[in-house]
Amino acid sequence: MLDEFGSENKRDYIDGFPPHPHRGIETVTYMLSGEFRHEDSSGNKGDMRAGSVQWMTAAGGIIHSEMPIMKEGKLHGFQLWINMPAKLKMTKPKYQNIDSEQIPLVQEKDKHVKVIAGDYNGQKGPISGISVEPLYLDVELNKDSNFEIKLLKIHNSFIYLIEGQIEIGDKKHDELFNSTLITLTKGEELKVKAITKSKFLVVSGKPINEPIARGGPFVMNTKAEILQAIQDYHNGTFVK
Ligand code: FE
Repeated sequence: MLDEFGSENKRDYIDGFPPHPHRGIETVTYMLSGEFRHEDSSGNKGDMRAGSVQWMTAAGGIIHSEMPIMKEGKLHGFQLWINMPAKLKMTKPKYQNIDSEQIPLVQEKDKHVKVIAGDYNGQKGPISGISVEPLYLDVELNKDSNFEIKLLKIHNSFIYLIEGQIEIGDKKHDELFNSTLITLTKGEELKVKAITKSKFLVVSGKPINEPIARGGPFVMNTKAEILQAIQDYHNGTFVK
């Protein structure tokens, strides 16, 4: 699941996200502008600023809050939920807060690529040891420039076009504009051409191929496991 959040009206974000639980997934927050503070039940604290990434592996259970440090101005960012395989869902939570300076920026003519996870042109992102072997890139292309990358044939992939207009592959598509999520067919070569100056995310990961049961902030394999998570939360035994 990918959520784009953004507002220039402080009333939309000033209440933040008070303490709430997650289980069975990793949540990846990528801030483009604004400032929020994360605190969680494992004792982790981290400030999320423009360009930073918070990679939280909720696994067996974490309770966290995400509250604004900013008092006004523009908030804009993304939260991606990455599923975890059954054998890892009830393991120990992990938290990685990555400042924007730690994210490699590959600058080429007409092109900027930030490598949050995975590999682009030999540059590796700061995140490692994630079971679905994610690729997470933030790409900026000038008008008429091209972006190419080799993907793994078995992975599921999508592009989220933040702004601009792009063409994907050699086939004719409907015109793709701002705030569009494009799920890609499986393949090894991805080619994107910018019709206008464009900014987009490229996300790819290994499919888990297990049943999915979702209940609010929990993603498990069965309904019974969701009910267990709710019960654990109400009993105060959620955080192991
Ligand atoms: Fe959350």
